[in-house]
Amino acid sequence: MNVCVIGTGYVGLVTGACFAEFGVNVVCVDKQADKIAALEAGEIPIYEPGLDDLVERNVREQRLSFSTDTESSVRDALVVFIAVGTPPRDDGGTNLSAVEAVAREIGRAMDGYKVVVTKSTVPVGTGKALRRAIQEELDAAGRDLHFSVASNPEFLREGAAIGDFMRPDRVVLGVEDEQAHAILRDLFRPLFLIETPFVMTNVETAELSKYAANSFLATKISFINEMANLCERVGADVHAVAKAMGLDRRIGKKFLHPGPGYGGSCFPKDTRSAAHFAREAGETLEIVESVIRVNERQRLRMVEKIVEAMGGEVDGRTVGMLGLSFKPETDDMRDAPAVEIVRGLRARGAAVRAYDPVAMPAAARVLPEIQMCKNAYEACEGADAMLLVTEWNQFRMLDLERLRGLLRQPVVVDLRNVYEPGPMRAAGFRYTCVGR
Ligand code: NAD
Repeated sequence: MNVCVIGTGYVGLVTGACFAEFGVNVVCVDKQADKIAALEAGEIPIYEPGLDDLVERNVREQRLSFSTDTESSVRDALVVFIAVGTPPRDDGGTNLSAVEAVAREIGRAMDGYKVVVTKSTVPVGTGKALRRAIQEELDAAGRDLHFSVASNPEFLREGAAIGDFMRPDRVVLGVEDEQAHAILRDLFRPLFLIETPFVMTNVETAELSKYAANSFLATKISFINEMANLCERVGADVHAVAKAMGLDRRIGKKFLHPGPGYGGSCFPKDTRSAAHFAREAGETLEIVESVIRVNERQRLRMVEKIVEAMGGEVDGRTVGMLGLSFKPETDDMRDAPAVEIVRGLRARGAAVRAYDPVAMPAAARVLPEIQMCKNAYEACEGADAMLLVTEWNQFRMLDLERLRGLLRQPVVVDLRNVYEPGPMRAAGFRYTCVGR
């Protein structure tokens, strides 16, 4: 089977490489010629553990290739995945211009039956809009062709994307006819073989499932962050609260870790998008709208927390920041809490020195005002506080004595609760964390 994946970002590249690994022929298409040229030269444009080996092997074994030519790539494929970006608009809605543009390109290129599958996260109703756009292009060219539209939302986590694709908790397939169903069943056969649960449904339900799942996960995060803030007021320990909650199997312990608020390329935009398209459909998602507000407040609260930990004034002071990406094991800086924190500190007159194991090149593009350092210790040298923002493993066992010698003030603000308050205070630090 020939598969074409349009949009070679975090999702498209992982999808393409993993399908190739299953043994099908895949071409990954992108309109960014420099990205495709880099991939053809063996360079991986993003940091995702294991992806380089997977791509290299499948290119070598000639199951995976790259192209900027949508037309011929679509013609050669039976299944076309759309994995382009769906960024937020200022009003919270979703900018679907890339999806729409790709739909029209597919319509213009089509010369026979295809299954067109959206992997991008798209508001409910996009599948129908996609069908209309493709049909309009076919009509304009006077071509009478049959095609299927399907929805296969992606649930992978950056940093664990390959494992999530190869051994997913579930696969959701929204299809509108038997032919597409049979073809997609065949394509996903390796996952059927390992007894992956499949949710077979219609296109609208598949589209909504992705927003429901992300909104629920975001809810857990905002919930525990509110509890953490309450813990700080009443002298309780949020970790014990989270454990007590999470051991109840009806609740589960995942996503009950307090911190600076959720970020990344999905939760912030997907929660806003869900609230927006629900309102347009005549329903207010009261819980999701609160989750968004709680998260925004949590972000702002972190800057206040840092300022307070540094004595109420940061003008002319320096912060040594550890971690920039929105979570460990990725270089993705989209909506990373670090961005708002740096801007908040800069607005109050502080200077920021930072270190991140992989995200510094991406961070330098959005935060040119910070000084990048070679390692955690260099970032803390001469700083008035160490600020831990992303819990990379290498920040879990820092040489505390060395750090105390490097810092101008023994202040540690740990927004991920990586360290324990008691031992940190015993080691001579003025230690602040979240909800303890
Ligand atoms: P991305 O920005 O990393 O990649 C999108 C790619 O699409 C870019 O390389 C861009 O150049 C390309 N593109 C845009 N228009 C194009 C066109 N007309 N023709 C060809 N290529 C085009 O985005 P991403 O993070 O991979 O996300 C893609 C989609 O998947 C989004 O809808 C996102 O919400 C969803 N998603 C992302 C994740 C994640 O962890 N990143 C997880 C699940 C779902």
